[in-house]
Amino acid sequence: MKADPFVQLRLLDLQALDSGLARLAHRRRTLPELAEMVRLDGLVEGLRDAVVRAETALSDLTREQDRFEREIEQVRARKSRDEERMASGAVNNPKQLQDMEHEVATLTRRQSDLEDGELEVMERVEAVQAELDELVARRTGYLAEREAAEQRRDDAFADIDDESARSTHERAEMAATFPADLLALYDKIRAAEGGVGAGAIERGRCGGCRLDLMNNEKSEVRAAGVEDVLRHEECGRIMVRTAESGL
Ligand SMILES: [Zn+2]
Repeated sequence: MKADPFVQLRLLDLQALDSGLARLAHRRRTLPELAEMVRLDGLVEGLRDAVVRAETALSDLTREQDRFEREIEQVRARKSRDEERMASGAVNNPKQLQDMEHEVATLTRRQSDLEDGELEVMERVEAVQAELDELVARRTGYLAEREAAEQRRDDAFADIDDESARSTHERAEMAATFPADLLALYDKIRAAEGGVGAGAIERGRCGGCRLDLMNNEKSEVRAAGVEDVLRHEECGRIMVRTAESGL
């Protein structure tokens, strides 16, 4: 293939734009914020089971406390009914009065036991609630950090996308000025060779793969016509001759 040496030189400008676009795409894929968000998602996820456990325990304990309160209320009501009847003088039978006194004493003990039980449950409620509060606070912190990371990611995406759009436009305009066959060859090599289709020969070295040219390759380059499009046998890329080629 042949191409005007100035056109060949401009391949290096095209390569610079393509490399810049590849760097932007790489930066977009590897933003630290992406890893940070994954890390925070993991932390939130890791808290999920513990939060569910604490919430379940809390709701069980709250039900238990309600049961105690209902029972205490029943005992208290029955006791005050008995006490009122005894105080009213409606019960004259000594045996019956004695039975009632006995019942009141039993109810008083029962109430005290129930109140002790309720107190114990309330202490457990307090402990589980504190644990749940702590878990929720941690989760809230992680979610806030994640949101901040997401915002930074979106800002970075916006910057990268702006720059990519500008470079893509510039690249399209520049590409349109190349002969179709040379552009097609360059694009084909670039796609196959990790994004690099052409490189300058610099101080006897291929700019595409950074390998020094062998003496016989240098001789071939020197012997080639200025319009010949040269390719490095080692890497297949287009080699562009410049003033710094050192041949
Ligand atoms: Zn090479």
